Amino acid sequence: MPDPEFLLLGEPLWLEFVNTAHQPPTGGEALPDPAAYLRWTKAVQLSSPGDAEAYRAALALRERLAAIADALAEGRAAAPSAIEAVNRRLGLLEGREQLVRIGGRWRLRFHPERPPADLEAIALSAAQALANPLATVRRCPGPECGLFFLDETDNQSRRICSRTRCGQQRGRVERRRANRTPVVTDE
Ligand SMILES: [Zn+2]
Repeated sequence: MPDPEFLLLGEPLWLEFVNTAHQPPTGGEALPDPAAYLRWTKAVQLSSPGDAEAYRAALALRERLAAIADALAEGRAAAPSAIEAVNRRLGLLEGREQLVRIGGRWRLRFHPERPPADLEAIALSAAQALANPLATVRRCPGPECGLFFLDETDNQSRRICSRTRCGQQRGRVERRRANRTPVVTDE
């Protein structure tokens, strides 16, 4: 079961993090203080010192990542300054590139020397999404939602954050439309 304190969609880490800034339905802040941030890192299996400094740095990175997610969801290019913030975090990672066999093909994968720190792992997750031409950042149009998610479907057809959260609403609209058609033809 996911931690009930935080809304986790199973999205890439950086989007889960960005989504903590505006939690539906009220759009409230899920990480109001260092203790809440520490609990969130535990919920997503990251480790953080959990002090005021780590919290400040986390919120600063989240603001940059939110700007990237916003831009991509609207079909704009991400600001160079925001990308630079991601690159700065990636620069702290120590490790090596390795060839690995995935699905019958050779892929280049980065292997860290040590478990990445919280913000490094988050930045790495953003970098992987940005570098993946088959992944599109979208923002859920559900009423009072607006959560970001990554559309990785083959035909880029995913439109909502999750069926259980916002699928109901969509289903109702479609059913109403379907029900309306016979009435119109009867007249
Ligand atoms: Zn939604």
